[in-house]
Amino acid sequence: MSEYRIETKCIQEGYKPENGQPRVLPIYQSTTYKYDSSEQLGKLFDLEAPGHMYTRISNPTVEAVENKISALEGGVGALCTSSGQAATQIVIMSLCNAGDHFVAASTIYGGTINLFSVTFKRFGIEVTYVDPKASAEEIKAAIKPNTRLVFGETIANPAMSVFDIEKFANIAHEAGIPLVIDNTFPTPINCRPFEFGADIVIHSTTKYMDGHACSLGGVVVDSGNFDWTNGKFPEFVEPDESYHGVVYTKNFGKAAFITKARVQLLRDLGCSPSPQNAFLLNLGLETLHLRVERHCENAQNVAEFLCNNESVSWVNYPGLKSSDDYELAQKYLPKGSCGVVSFGIKGGRQAAMKFMDSLKLAAIVVHVADARTSVLHPASTTHRQLSDQQLVEAGITPDLIRMSIGIENVLDIIEDIKQALATL
Ligand SMILES: *Cc1c(COP(=O)(O)O)cnc(C)c1O
Repeated sequence: MSEYRIETKCIQEGYKPENGQPRVLPIYQSTTYKYDSSEQLGKLFDLEAPGHMYTRISNPTVEAVENKISALEGGVGALCTSSGQAATQIVIMSLCNAGDHFVAASTIYGGTINLFSVTFKRFGIEVTYVDPKASAEEIKAAIKPNTRLVFGETIANPAMSVFDIEKFANIAHEAGIPLVIDNTFPTPINCRPFEFGADIVIHSTTKYMDGHACSLGGVVVDSGNFDWTNGKFPEFVEPDESYHGVVYTKNFGKAAFITKARVQLLRDLGCSPSPQNAFLLNLGLETLHLRVERHCENAQNVAEFLCNNESVSWVNYPGLKSSDDYELAQKYLPKGSCGVVSFGIKGGRQAAMKFMDSLKLAAIVVHVADARTSVLHPASTTHRQLSDQQLVEAGITPDLIRMSIGIENVLDIIEDIKQALATL
């Protein structure tokens, strides 16, 4: 098969109808699948034959979307989940047992910090946070014999810092462990972390992939490149008793990780997406390339406008030459970063609130990364559970406003910001 360009993959990958079949991906609203004999169904239960048996584990509508996202990222397989949080959970729980440890960048999404610091801790899985700008030596020092993975976000939500994927991939691989990247903000349109050495990618598809703020979802994508037989991951090379002794690396080769994640973790945890939501996600993916391009163009314009406004104390957007991460953005995000701009207003928290309340087009919502321009004050909302120290480590100052630039006409967005700044 010839490799299509990414814009074509957004439209064409995943669902390939045969003669006389529906042109558009159908919604298979069925929990179950019929087989002619118990023997055939039994083979599915032993993972000896491919096929669907129960929608908690797989479904034809969901599978088409998984195949599309896998193609967009350049992976060997993908697994859709009911939310981005569930995707992160599946990856960490696939790799860590109680007593294990992992390393994560400190600049990550607040919900992920909670999951790592509070909930996983309750189950005996420990995390150490590292400053993503630390030297290789400092990062290596955080890796212990029981460390099972390294985790980071390509563009940190909402700090907007760019993660040095290659640096972290080298460190992880030297230690014989995989690098897991949350690629939610750039999407595969702007960055494909596997090309820089990442081993597993996750997304909150709730954001740009769905793009319309109408369905929660997550996805895990496997590059197929990590060597699970290196001695550090016995559960990949030893028989799985829950599947009559299947050995994941032997039976599934490059797809060992994504198969194990599905047939063990998705089966047992049940955080599966609905076929209806997978259909909506697929619609979003069909225009992902167009929307991401416009989000980036609009955000660049807004960021430049904010830089030149005297009520604004600072602006952070990876596409600005003044950004600390401009060089990293040129390397990892040459086509653009994303539609989210973070900035501070002179006068701190009070002025930030007044500014936000004065906006007319942009709405105060918790969401980011959909078609509508929206705005949020993380320190008092999404990240309010973090301590001041954690806020600083996550790159969030009390005056930080996170603005998610939509795909309206940028002149209307800028006029709205201008009139709200004028009220200060
Ligand atoms: C929103 C978000 C998540 C969590 O995803 P949900 O779909 O809300 O569960 C994880 N990572 C990043 C970067 C996010 O922005």
